[in-house]
Amino acid sequence: MSTIPLVNVRALNHEIRDEIDAAVSGVLDRGDFILGGAVEAFEQAFARYCGVRYCIGVGSGLDALTLTLKGLGIGNGDEVITVANTFIATALAICHTGAVPVVVDHDPNTYNIDPHQIAAAITSRTKAILPVHLYGQPADMDAILAIASEHGLWVVEDAAQAHGARYQGRVCGSLGDAAAFSFYPGKNLGAMGDAGAIVTDREDLAQWARAARSYGSTEKNVHRLTGFNSRLDTIQAAVLRVKLSHLDRWNTRRRALAAQYHELLAESNVVLPEAGDNVDHVYHLYVIRCAERDALRSTLEQHGIASGVHYPTPLHGHASLMHRCRIPHDLLNAATFCDEIVSLPLCPCLKDEQVEEIAAVVIEHAASCGAPVLELQTATP
Ligand SMILES: *Cc1c(COP(=O)(O)O)cnc(C)c1O
Repeated sequence: MSTIPLVNVRALNHEIRDEIDAAVSGVLDRGDFILGGAVEAFEQAFARYCGVRYCIGVGSGLDALTLTLKGLGIGNGDEVITVANTFIATALAICHTGAVPVVVDHDPNTYNIDPHQIAAAITSRTKAILPVHLYGQPADMDAILAIASEHGLWVVEDAAQAHGARYQGRVCGSLGDAAAFSFYPGKNLGAMGDAGAIVTDREDLAQWARAARSYGSTEKNVHRLTGFNSRLDTIQAAVLRVKLSHLDRWNTRRRALAAQYHELLAESNVVLPEAGDNVDHVYHLYVIRCAERDALRSTLEQHGIASGVHYPTPLHGHASLMHRCRIPHDLLNAATFCDEIVSLPLCPCLKDEQVEEIAAVVIEHAASCGAPVLELQTATP
């Protein structure tokens, strides 16, 4: 019954329906359904957009992460350090290589992996750091890259929520050794089904991944590695190429909506997201923290406003992961934030009046409940 959805993918696609129809028809006309011309065209366009040499389109964001880690040689007995507050796919990818996810806490201001916690979690088994640019905000890459170079570790960006985000002027995806993107329909750049991509400047990884996504084949009937079938679908690639040309405009609109929320909610009791210095946040999600979060969600629902929680369970709380993760230190922020965070509707087609309507409900809720959520916990290992 919600009248304001969290994201309105349908409305967004409708806006450019003619361009999408033409792109899909083009694939039908050519009939090159597997790794066709549209895949190559999108890969080139997306590599250029990210400022890297190679883009390899794959079946999903999870596959992009898994293949990247495997391609870098990560496997049994290795450890990969990541953050508790992320989508489960980040850790599943580590598990699928045979490595152990080492889960650390996030910084209370940026909600991204806390570099101090990374340094303290490194062992002789550590092979890589897997930061997530959560909610569209780049992680603290200078600090992460410094730790990685000191210890000889790979850095793989989980950029599934950060298409077009920038860190010190550089586009996310170009900051580490490689990056994984998801084009799940609700992402800032979304396909019309599952899709993902690996981007990298490393020629060896690009070649490996290109073969690995297609049965390990380097040329017809030549299979040197134990490959997979995880190719970016040609119709999805055609759609993505159209949508890529609108991404910057949509991200600008997301920033304007976030600024409007910020202004309207500035005086209330809720904790607002803060964009760090020198970063271009692309607000995949607009996440606030408040007291009595579940009551706020019910009130929003009564007003026909959808909301979400990203994420209600830290990685190590999932049944599939709890016995596979190593947790070197207490995860104080992860443990408290998951009960306080709520994602408000945000989508390029959201209207200014709708933001006003949503903000009014949040303000009323915040005024009616007691203590604000303000105490920040910076755990030092
Ligand atoms: C969406 C997402 C993924 C997984 O992408 P899929 O395409 O759904 O497999 C991985 N990591 C993060 C942070 C995500 O948000």
